[in-house]
Amino acid sequence: MTDGKGVDAGLLQTRYRLTKQRAAILRALEDGAHLTAETIHERVRVELPAVSLGTIYRTLDILRAIGLVQVFAHGGAARYEAALDKHHHLVCVACGEIVNVPAPQVAAIALAVAQDNRYSGIDAAMVITGRCARCAGLARNGLS
Ligand SMILES: [Zn+2]
Ligand SMILES: [Zn+2]
Repeated sequence: MTDGKGVDAGLLQTRYRLTKQRAAILRALEDGAHLTAETIHERVRVELPAVSLGTIYRTLDILRAIGLVQVFAHGGAARYEAALDKHHHLVCVACGEIVNVPAPQVAAIALAVAQDNRYSGIDAAMVITGRCARCAGLARNGLS
């Protein structure tokens, strides 16, 4: 059927390609942005023009599984970010800015509520929506 060498070469090639895709995705996320898979795809294609959106999704799943990427879903499409410590999000409803905030108090509140309801193994994510300072300023000045 196939000789050992051919299989090994193929495997190595597959591994190498996966590694390149992972690295390209992590580079696309390194400015701390919260990006949709489509935006990541656009950025990665600059480096790897042949990569498909399906491959981006599969690679993002792998990166999530190994803890290098987190997903944030609020309203529209899921957004991915290079993993940081546990954090919560402030979202500006006017310009769409997403800011990471540590908000360590949330864990204590979530734990108390969970215990009252006999829940265990909990996780809690807080999303605070509003207007960022810049957008609030524009609104005050009648510019938006
Ligand atoms: Zn804003
Ligand atoms: Zn975030």
